[in-house]
Order: sequence, then structure tokens, then C-alpha cells
Amino acid sequence: MTPPHKKQDAVLDDEAREKIHLDILKRTGAYHASDHILLPSGHHTGEFIEKTLVTTEPSFTEGLGAVIAKHFAQWPIDVVLATGPGAIILSHCVARAHPSRPLLLYGVKGMTGGKRKVTLPAEFHRLIREGTKVLLVEDLVSTGSTLKLLIELVERHGAQVVGIGALWRRTKRAEVEGKPVFSLVARDFPTYPPDACPLCKKGMPLNEEFVRRREHRRPSSTQEKAE
Ligand SMILES: [Zn+2]
Repeated sequence: MTPPHKKQDAVLDDEAREKIHLDILKRTGAYHASDHILLPSGHHTGEFIEKTLVTTEPSFTEGLGAVIAKHFAQWPIDVVLATGPGAIILSHCVARAHPSRPLLLYGVKGMTGGKRKVTLPAEFHRLIREGTKVLLVEDLVSTGSTLKLLIELVERHGAQVVGIGALWRRTKRAEVEGKPVFSLVARDFPTYPPDACPLCKKGMPLNEEFVRRREHRRPSSTQEKAE
């Protein structure tokens, strides 16, 4: 049995660790707090994470990847599988730091008949097979829908998902489909419909920058879907 004070220490460690990771993300400019932000859904929020900026500082990314790799170091891993292009840089750093020297592969997100899907480039198919141990790496876990699709895909190949490493987890539960999620930050931020937004009530100006940037990006994401 673990003495109670030990457990408290562990919680403190988790909090301290999370604060360090948040500070790192702040320094990359990816994490915004104390703001009043319009989300693509039309809801408002006080905090936001810009995924594109998360891995712009190689030494930070290497450090964060090493923390995830260390957490999963006790398990042998054959493959680190990035959920998509956005998670590849972090995945590379995780794979590089893991003692099993796993391969780094990535999934490709797309749409078929209006439904989201994830596939593996054909060249990777022979690398995920019966008995392959796979660590999934995602940047931001919110609904976990991409992860669920990838877990299905990996298991269809007869391989096994050991766990999920993530930069940020917005879900309450630290698991997806029974697979443990280890994230550097576990934090959900409330979002509000405009008519119930406390920040609107305070009269804070609304930051629409992130939605505007997304609009700019639309042509390329349409192309991605057409592949
Ligand atoms: Zn508002």
C-alpha cells in the first residue's frame, strides 16, 4: 500500500509537471489564456490551443516527446503511429527517445461518403501486422474520434495498441476505448454559447483571429479531403 502522503506528493508532481508543460506551450505562443476567443463552432472560450504552433521550437518538442517516451519506456514498442500530419513532429520526438527504437508511421485522415476515416499509406501496411506493439501519438485529444478509428485500424491488422501519448487531453477520462492516455497537459476549458458567455457579459472584446485563420486554410483542407 502506498502511504497517503506519497499519493499527495504524486498529485503535486503531476500539477508541477503540468504547469511546466503549460509554460512551455505558452512560450511557443500556442497556448492562449485570459482571452475571449471565438471558436469555429460559434462558441466563445477564455483559453485556446493553436496546434500548428505547438511544435515550432525543436528543443521544446524534443523535451516534450522525451517525457511521453519516458512514460511508456517500460513497455516494448515496435511502432509509434502519429494520428495525422499534425502529430508527426511530436511523434518523431517520442519515437527517437523511446528505448525500443520504434519505427515512426502516420495515419492519413480523410472523408468517405461524408464519414470521417483514417487510413494508412499502403507502404506501411506490412509494418503493422500480427503482434506489432503500437503507441499512438496525438497532439490534442478532444472527442477521441480519430483515435478510435486508428485503434480499430491497428487491431484489424492484428496489432496491439499499448497506449496513447498526447500533448493535451481535453477529455475527462484518461482512456480511449480502454487504452490508457498519457498527456502532458490534462485540461478542459469551458466553452459558452454567445448568449451565455460570462466574458461577453464582462464586455471583453471578442478575438476572432483564430476563426479567420481557419477560413484562410480552407482551400488546402478541401484538397486534402479530395485525395
Ligand atoms: Zn463571449
